[in-house]
Amino acid sequence: MKQKMNRVSVVSLSGVSKTFEEKEVLRGITFDIKQGEIISLLGPSGCGKTTILRLIAGFELPDEGVISVKGKPVAGMGFSIPPDKRSVGMVFQDYALFPHMTVAKNVLYGLKGFDRERQKKILSGMLSLSGLSGYENRYPHQLSGGEQQRVAVARALAPCPNALLLDEPFSNLDADMRARMRTDVLNILRKARTTAILVTHDREEAFSLGDRVGVLNYGHLEQLDAPEVLYHQPKTPFVARFVGHADFITGEVINRKVVTSLGSFSLLSPLQEKKCMVMIRPDDIDLAADDDGSAVLVDRTFLGSENIIKLRLASGEIVRSVQPSTNVYLAGQRLRVSANLDHVVVFPLNKIEEHQHK
Ligand code: ATP
Repeated sequence: MKQKMNRVSVVSLSGVSKTFEEKEVLRGITFDIKQGEIISLLGPSGCGKTTILRLIAGFELPDEGVISVKGKPVAGMGFSIPPDKRSVGMVFQDYALFPHMTVAKNVLYGLKGFDRERQKKILSGMLSLSGLSGYENRYPHQLSGGEQQRVAVARALAPCPNALLLDEPFSNLDADMRARMRTDVLNILRKARTTAILVTHDREEAFSLGDRVGVLNYGHLEQLDAPEVLYHQPKTPFVARFVGHADFITGEVINRKVVTSLGSFSLLSPLQEKKCMVMIRPDDIDLAADDDGSAVLVDRTFLGSENIIKLRLASGEIVRSVQPSTNVYLAGQRLRVSANLDHVVVFPLNKIEEHQHK
């Protein structure tokens, strides 16, 4: 269950830009994370996700903009507070555990100035929180990938940081372990009421962990919203495609109605243009075998639990439909199509052209 947020802002970025070797990697990144909130940053490889974490942690300096932690600026306007003074923890892709140190020593690494009693108490709390009680004397090579990851999270949480940054934390695990670790890490973060930013290029991971998900498109934050809002109300064609299967068909605007080859629907807000693009997802298209149907099956992909059917409409447009895996359709088969047009999203034509030229 996703938690209700209060209004305290823990990390905020305002107009942050970063250039490496004359290549602008981030531009005008602005967002706020509230106490206890978990944000996922999602985007293709090289879009700048890790750079955002490194800027917040203090390993890189922004060229423009300001980064604040708990309301206090930590970087920007020509100054920067060093990473160890920001109280921001980081969990790296490869966990970066110290191989020659036991679990206990790894977890206590950031607590060197603390007295022994306090260290003991924190260690026991962290091991119990992360399900590692009894593992304190083991070395990293004596742990599974998932256990190593929990040690990495416990080590980052031990000093009670203001926020935790996780960079692709599940990418070294196999598919089964990934799913388990997602739940385990989410439980640890929720129990510790941690404010966290998770970077991933896996949509399922971003959706299942994030209270809000930010989609980055080559240095630009296109949208930051709850997963359901991103999926059903994407603000750009890039977001629409990045968070799920999306097909686009043309629409003609006639008297506040949009007429498409899949039917017509009313516009919620007025549109200046006479023509538009309409995004529809495969879960909103249903079909049935019908020799008189106006659509033709052009391809079928079997995914185990479902079939993705690609079909050509009478208009020549290609759309996809998700069908149960037991429904058998053959190539070339004629189909009758019905669409639920309640969830479609309308984009002006120029948005689509912009997207295609990126
Ligand atoms: P991935 O999902 O592949 O890890 P990412 O979205 O995390 O990618 P970043 O690691 O933030 O992407 O890198 C963004 C861009 O900045 C890439 O083109 C990368 O090559 C470049 N880059 C990152 N760090 C540096 C650096 N220190 N010097 C030069 N270029 C860099």
